Amino acid sequence: MTKNLQIDVDERGYYGRFGGAYIPEMLHPNIEQLKNTYREMTADPDFKKEFDALLKDYVGRPSPLYFAKRLSEHYGTNIYLKREDLNHTGAHKINNTIGQILVAQRLGKKRIIAETGAGQHGVATATVCALVGLQCIVYMGEVDIARQAPNVARMRMLGAEVRPALSGSKTLKDATNEAIRDWINNPEDTHYIIGSVVGPHPYPDMVARFQSVISEEMKWQLQEKLGRDYPDAIVACVGGGSNAAGAFYHYLNDERVRLVAVEAAGLGVDSGESAATSVLGTEGIIHGSRTLLMQTEDGQVIEPYSISAGLDYPGIGPLHAFLIDSKRAEAISVTDEDALAAALFTARTEGIIPALETAHAFSALDQMEYGPDDVIVVCLSGRGDKDLAAFTTYLNGLAG
Ligand SMILES: *Cc1c(COP(=O)(O)O)cnc(C)c1O
Repeated sequence: MTKNLQIDVDERGYYGRFGGAYIPEMLHPNIEQLKNTYREMTADPDFKKEFDALLKDYVGRPSPLYFAKRLSEHYGTNIYLKREDLNHTGAHKINNTIGQILVAQRLGKKRIIAETGAGQHGVATATVCALVGLQCIVYMGEVDIARQAPNVARMRMLGAEVRPALSGSKTLKDATNEAIRDWINNPEDTHYIIGSVVGPHPYPDMVARFQSVISEEMKWQLQEKLGRDYPDAIVACVGGGSNAAGAFYHYLNDERVRLVAVEAAGLGVDSGESAATSVLGTEGIIHGSRTLLMQTEDGQVIEPYSISAGLDYPGIGPLHAFLIDSKRAEAISVTDEDALAAALFTARTEGIIPALETAHAFSALDQMEYGPDDVIVVCLSGRGDKDLAAFTTYLNGLAG
């Protein structure tokens, strides 16, 4: 028997004490409108039909659940990979942007803004804007623009305008601040497509629902392959937490399933150059929600660091803050160096080059314990093409 957990967002947008909507007055109408309409709108049969059809024919879902034979032999257990890297645009992000562009259309919005770290969310947003013919502006930290050049080129090719964020560490947090500023100035005609399970309610819940297709598919794929619809553990990397939220979603209340959230330790959790929010974070408010974030004693956000632009964020979504605080999920942190080694190992063991973000999840397998009969699903959140410059530097370092 499984205990009857009831992990879900409440009406005010809280998971326990985490979540809510802490927003400037100017954004109240937008957030209220979203909050009051998103559940009904996305449950509407016409919406679902359009969403499902696009996921199938445009994104290429269902994404395969692949038994990784050589990785399994290496670790002495059974490892399955949920192949979000095979989605159109190369990561899980497109599941959410497809959902949100349909929301924007139904709200009559004409202009789309987004923030992006690694550029995957920017590309996914630029893609759906091109798909439906809406204007697209993507805010991106100047540092990330430099380290993710291929994705910047993709966004521009797709017709999006990429605007650099020049403040702070010039990474994801700063891009998010710029996007919020834009929305405050353009509340009427603009929809803000947030790229993860962060931000004010209803974003964390709305994004988790769009991403929940990942675990919805896992259930029937495991049933088909193993005759049982649940694994023993699910491992996913966490930046804001959207691929993890999607991979965990249908198992949140099923305690047979271990939920493992993998964060970026950067140069080491205690190095001062890290993004391991669940270890270093304390309760506070960032980007519209109460959650765990890296901050000084007087509440200044501490600049995060990770080699991986998609994990380089000082907070985590409120669902994950709750899962970790309540011990429903375990958190593991992985350094840059270990993530690079895991990317190389995965590439040479399975013929799959994972994104640097995802490589953190693979590296966590080294820190976990499991038995020979266990079934472990790793959410392979994205492909590594965008990270080839970092991989090349790493390979050159190994050679020299
Ligand atoms: C953006 C990104 C992440 C981190 O974002 P989450 O919202 O935590 O999923 C992880 N993996 C890839 C490939 C990404 O592009």
